[in-house]
Amino acid sequence: MSGKTYWIRTFGCQMNKLDSELAAGQLEAAGFARAPGDESADLVLLNTCSVRAKAQDRATSMLCNYTRDERGRSGQRLVGVMGCVVQQMKGKLLEAPCYADFALGTGAVSQLAEIIDRLAAGERGILALQADCSAWDYDSSIVRRQNKRSAFVAISRGCSNFCSYCIVPYVRGPIKHRKPECIIDEVKRLADAGYIDVCLLGQNVNAYKHGELKFVHLLEKLAQIDELRRLRFITTHPKDLCLDTVKMMAHQPFAPYISLPIQSGSDRILGLMNRGYTRRDYLEKVSWLREHVEGCFISTDIMVGFPGESDADFEDTLEVVRLAQFDNVYSFIYSPRPFTKASSFGNEVPKLVVKARFKRLLALQRQNHVERLRPFVGKTVEVLIDGASKKDRSAACGRSPQHVIVNLPQDRCEIGELVLAEITEAGVRTLIGKVTKRLMPAPRS
Ligand code: SAM
Ligand code: SF4
Repeated sequence: MSGKTYWIRTFGCQMNKLDSELAAGQLEAAGFARAPGDESADLVLLNTCSVRAKAQDRATSMLCNYTRDERGRSGQRLVGVMGCVVQQMKGKLLEAPCYADFALGTGAVSQLAEIIDRLAAGERGILALQADCSAWDYDSSIVRRQNKRSAFVAISRGCSNFCSYCIVPYVRGPIKHRKPECIIDEVKRLADAGYIDVCLLGQNVNAYKHGELKFVHLLEKLAQIDELRRLRFITTHPKDLCLDTVKMMAHQPFAPYISLPIQSGSDRILGLMNRGYTRRDYLEKVSWLREHVEGCFISTDIMVGFPGESDADFEDTLEVVRLAQFDNVYSFIYSPRPFTKASSFGNEVPKLVVKARFKRLLALQRQNHVERLRPFVGKTVEVLIDGASKKDRSAACGRSPQHVIVNLPQDRCEIGELVLAEITEAGVRTLIGKVTKRLMPAPRS
């Protein structure tokens, strides 16, 4: 299909971002070029998320919009869908009202190359779901990354934790661990190619295990790769975070950043969620991080309105937010999901109560964010440029080692450039600064 163009829209988590890069690599190998936007693309691919009903609905209505246009016209453009919603809805996305030309489940991303051949031969309505993902791995050479300094590397896929609210174990299957030699080899090749920021991915990275080799042993091996500047990992499940891992994070090349979702500050709710830790256990791990990893940024996820959440449970959550002094909080309103235990709990919290609680949580975290970012003002931080500022597309934007967004409104930089910037202002979630030194140019591709 040479001369054709593609456009991928990604919803959801970083694992989906990596899967989109895997899809992009296969499309480019088949002769497609990246389109500047969806309007002109010959093939549009939506990579979907089903963690919350809203994300699922957005993806399916966007799919319907594309296909509705196409059915009205000559239908030249191909419209495909991949990700968790496919795994959840299976062949339904190929039928009315969605009419996708092809659908790829979460374990079938690597089959896109073969599907492109079938599409070229005129086939439509293709469904690919890989039933057995037990020996999961992927060919890292086909990943098409836009930022040539920053890379996601999957170490595991799926999840076996079955938190009572979460659809992930049903749509991504049980946890599957990638071979350590494949991970190490990929990270070495990335470092040789000039990548300095590597983020290891898994729904629960700390549960990584291959034979006798655990997550901390994998980190030990990766830490020996000289050229790496920032080694990160997401997501860490609090029940599996051990002191050895925290101590290791204190050293180069580990970035002083962790995503440690607490979900609730109430032990009763944590029990109902099947999280496997108490608020005390969680706070102990926060104290390890504060003690051993200097300047560690702790990001968390919190869910509001879980079935049966009382005022007292919610107050417990607010208290933990104050005690832990989170640097960043992502908060979500509970959304009942198919297949999950919690969806049959009943005991729904009234919508108005949930809204009021959510508002209070946002106000508290806003105050926290500002306080946590203020000390950066006047300091110089290293910024790895990863795009343009959302407010001003001509201004540069990047991430500090703590993974904080730094906007550089007065500067023009390229994606992949590494600079030093003096911080002039602190916002709620972002810093503003100006470049004082250019450390590394963007790599030439
Ligand atoms: N594996 C991570 C962990 O252990 O927390 C989180 C992965 S989950 C896909 C990302 C976030 O989505 C969760 O931290 C949770 O706060 C939120 N989430 C998951 N299921 C949800 C649901 N049913 N309703 C609302 N938010 C949900
Ligand atoms: Fe979902 Fe829990 Fe697994 Fe995270 S650990 S992906 S919240 S089941």
